Amino acid sequence: MPVDKHINFFELAKAAEKPGCPLCRIINDRAERYIDNMLFEHVADRGFRAIHREAGGFCAFHSKGLSAFRDGLAVAILGRDILEDRISAFEKNKAWNPKGRCPVCLEKERIEEEYLSFLVSSGGESPEEKELREVFTASDGLCAPHYGRLLEGSPRKFGRGGNRSITPIWLKQFHENKFRSLLERTSRFIELSAYGRQEEFAKLSEEDQLVWKELALSLRGGGE
Ligand SMILES: [Zn+2]
Ligand SMILES: [Zn+2]
Repeated sequence: MPVDKHINFFELAKAAEKPGCPLCRIINDRAERYIDNMLFEHVADRGFRAIHREAGGFCAFHSKGLSAFRDGLAVAILGRDILEDRISAFEKNKAWNPKGRCPVCLEKERIEEEYLSFLVSSGGESPEEKELREVFTASDGLCAPHYGRLLEGSPRKFGRGGNRSITPIWLKQFHENKFRSLLERTSRFIELSAYGRQEEFAKLSEEDQLVWKELALSLRGGGE
């Protein structure tokens, strides 16, 4: 296994030991580190400042943490660029339509592609691949958006012939069983929520009584 693949393997195996979609977890950790890194090391980097400005700043989701950052100067330098552009648009009474995309969102998509293509190529019989299969199938598995993206992967990204035909069978079976079982548990929850079935409802496990939370998280993705 090449070195970069080893990193993918270790990160996935580590994330799979924790609750929730392993890929959402990796992305959240990496996005945080990415912003941190950008703010502390690349704020003076013209290339990054230009990309950030072109995007009109970080998206609403990724700018949430900015007011809590340790480095106020970095936030001020980046923010000033955006405020200047905003003021100029206000003065011209022009709509605000930045052309670029949030640099953290772009990074997030790059990581997603990297890990999804890694997972899709993990159908072999090497000791690492076997171990990955073991830890992954013991995990909560991918959320619905990430599993959907894995299946939809274009031939350009995931190799010739489209991804559907090359999705390893273990990955497909594991996820489809998992989603089917989530559907059954949800239906049971709905059924037993009806009037007069309180006693049966009370016998459900705590997990099954809270299955709606699990469902919402699995459908939305993005982690806790
Ligand atoms: Zn996910
Ligand atoms: Zn973003």
